[in-house]
Amino acid sequence: MIGAGISGALIAETLSEAGLDVVVIDRRAPAEGSTAASTALLQYELDMPLSHMAERIGKARAVRIWQRSRLAVDSLRSRTERLGLRVDAATRRSLYLDGNVLDPAALAAEAEARREAGFEVELIGPAAVLERYGIRNRHAIVGFDNYSADPRRMAAAYLHIAQARGARIYVPAEVSGVEPSASGVILDIEGRGEVRAKHAIFATGYEMLKGVPRKGNYIMSTWSIATKPQPRAIWPDAAMIWEASDPYLYIRTTPDGAVICGGEDEEFADEQARDAKIAAKTATLEAKLGKLLPAIDPTAAFAWAGSFGNSPLGTPTVGRVPHMPNCYAAMGYGGNGITFSMMAAQILRNEICGGGDADADLFSFHRNF
Ligand SMILES: Cc1cc2nc3c(=O)[nH]c(=O)nc-3n(C[C@H](O)[C@H](O)[C@H](O)COP(=O)(O)OP(=O)(O)OC[C@H]3O[C@@H](n4cnc5c(N)ncnc54)[C@H](O)[C@@H]3O)c2cc1C
Repeated sequence: MIGAGISGALIAETLSEAGLDVVVIDRRAPAEGSTAASTALLQYELDMPLSHMAERIGKARAVRIWQRSRLAVDSLRSRTERLGLRVDAATRRSLYLDGNVLDPAALAAEAEARREAGFEVELIGPAAVLERYGIRNRHAIVGFDNYSADPRRMAAAYLHIAQARGARIYVPAEVSGVEPSASGVILDIEGRGEVRAKHAIFATGYEMLKGVPRKGNYIMSTWSIATKPQPRAIWPDAAMIWEASDPYLYIRTTPDGAVICGGEDEEFADEQARDAKIAAKTATLEAKLGKLLPAIDPTAAFAWAGSFGNSPLGTPTVGRVPHMPNCYAAMGYGGNGITFSMMAAQILRNEICGGGDADADLFSFHRNF
């Protein structure tokens, strides 16, 4: 396993449970990539609305992707509870507000598309949005049973479980070359020799290894702020709030009442340029947060930036890497990254140890959409 972020942690734990002898290698300490910056809204409701995805790739495939995302969040919750992991996890409602991507009529059509796919949703108008959430002049879809957690603690906890089952973790160790063959894979570790394995999994986040096809993946820069804990109940059910807008805004609360708000994503990879924008993006996020939720103090106590891999549909590429026998990848996750990390763990387990996965075709390198 190359990568000790949330993807590598979930995959390592799943494979160790399946009885495989797992080695995890990372050039940094565990959970120091995208996972460290993540705001960890663990939602099955994807960035791309179901109705839009259906227009792009057909209704049947879009519904399967959305339904599989729901299963992934349910599995992550069940597994985290079953393993007794204390990772500040909570089940949350979501409030999806109309915006420049879905106006009120399109939001109603989106609610109907979700109902037809079997999702429980509630469509509410401006009076109910104002009464329940203190937000003016917006329509919204209320969703149920999303999840949130501390992403670093979650990655560490899953790695510990894998380690307790015998997995070995080597950090810092950089994989500088991959030599696949029909009988196995040799990984060159910069300055430290090599590791021989039956299979190799690349869970390297937005930093892709040489030779792995891009499949349309690209790097996004994103910015987030956290306020100090708010002195009053901000909104009664602590729902995750996000907007059908481009650029979008998303908001959640932490267990101590602080508000985390992020968005303003831009498609570029340069980390220096990204960090140079933190002050300006912080001001924009504070202004948008204060405008949306006038009852809170939007001043940032912390502000940070991060990068993540994305794809045109916001869905990942998971599965066997073409022309690299015994190599698998899990990459290009989009804003629902951690939901897809769990899904990748399931798909890769089923591909490597079982009889294949029912939804592998939706995410494989060979898909034609
Ligand atoms: C600010 C921000 C907010 C986000 N908010 C959310 C959210 O609310 N909900 C959500 O679901 N997702 C969110 N995401 C996305 C989510 O965080 C990512 O999809 C997820 O963390 C990716 O995890 P990963 O393990 O695949 O990658 P990473 O955490 O980046 O881990 C990859 C690891 O691979 C290692 N690596 C790479 N190349 C090599 C090599 N050659 N040799 C050795 N090691 C290597 C890296 O050092 C790194 O540790 C957010 C991302 C950011 C940046």
